[in-house]
Amino acid sequence: MTRRPNRRDDLAGLTGYHSPQLDVAVRLNTNESPFPPPEGFVAAWRDALATMPLHRYPDRDARDLRTVIATMTASTPEQVMVANGSNEVLQTVFLAYGGAGRRALVAEPTYALHRHIAQITGTEVVEIARNDDFTVDADRMIDAIREHQPAIVFLCNPNNPTGTIEAVATVRAVADACDAEGAVLIVDEAYAEFLQDSSASALALVAEDRNVVVSRTFSKVWSLASLRLGFAIGPTWFVGDCETVSLPYRLSIATQLAGIYAPRFGAEMQSRIDLIVHEREVLVERLAAFPALTAFPSGANFVLVRVPGAARAVWEGLVSHGVLVRDFSSWPGLTDCLRVTIGTEAENDAFVRALERVLADKHLGA
Ligand SMILES: *Cc1c(COP(=O)(O)O)cnc(C)c1O
Repeated sequence: MTRRPNRRDDLAGLTGYHSPQLDVAVRLNTNESPFPPPEGFVAAWRDALATMPLHRYPDRDARDLRTVIATMTASTPEQVMVANGSNEVLQTVFLAYGGAGRRALVAEPTYALHRHIAQITGTEVVEIARNDDFTVDADRMIDAIREHQPAIVFLCNPNNPTGTIEAVATVRAVADACDAEGAVLIVDEAYAEFLQDSSASALALVAEDRNVVVSRTFSKVWSLASLRLGFAIGPTWFVGDCETVSLPYRLSIATQLAGIYAPRFGAEMQSRIDLIVHEREVLVERLAAFPALTAFPSGANFVLVRVPGAARAVWEGLVSHGVLVRDFSSWPGLTDCLRVTIGTEAENDAFVRALERVLADKHLGA
């Protein structure tokens, strides 16, 4: 008889992170870019990769990559931490500042991975509720920071899955409280480029004497979800703390080169962003014509839609028409909500036309 090892007791009830996938024609469920990266990028990246000594470990410090990202974000290479996607950035933050006997503060509903990674690292989660319009109440958050003394505080701007844009004043006030109470503030800006307003970013708050870190990713904006590259901009002591807990050589040469070459195609990237933002505005306008639903304002590449009493049925109806969106209707604070990622013009049109038919079938007044 083999005795099976027992999983950690504190993982009871946890399952892995799942975003259901279905094989349908129009996939608007995971906030990926609908566009592949520029052909010129793919060629440059592939050519550079072909010259690399693949039997050698990659640059452990990812120096060239961090230099490129520093230029892109008006910071220094010493302020740049890189990882396999921003999810790994978040995990590294928890390895350095979370763990048993420590707390993380989140404002729900927000990105599920913040809570999930807290749990798998044994970090206690303290949550506050967002306002009805999904913005964060700064005073409520500051009170919670003072009361619970979290080691890590999260803001997500724009927030996933609601699309909510946080006021700069809120971020600044929460940052002040984190400085005063010794917490590190992680501002998850996975969608910041879709805001098209660089003054809305917390990058301007990053300084040696502030406990502020901005996390970003190449997955959404840069059309590179497959290559897994995320980064954080923070004080040098933060980058040092992260290095202490990071695995050596964790970023493959393919990933490093992707981040080195992608910014050379910034103009093409920007035109993709402009197109997605335009499509978002068009979609929001078209959705306003449906009395059966409410579309929330979004600064990201997705829109949260509330369909009172019928979200699950509408989700199923959309799937039967070959359109997959993300069903959040059973999530706390997101009753009746579906999230639709902005796709190509044709995909968004397919979504709206399928929605019209589904709502008409359900007599919800298309
Ligand atoms: C998608 C997403 C991420 C993760 O992105 P990766 O870089 O692909 O790991 C992080 N934060 C938020 C809010 C996201 O929506």
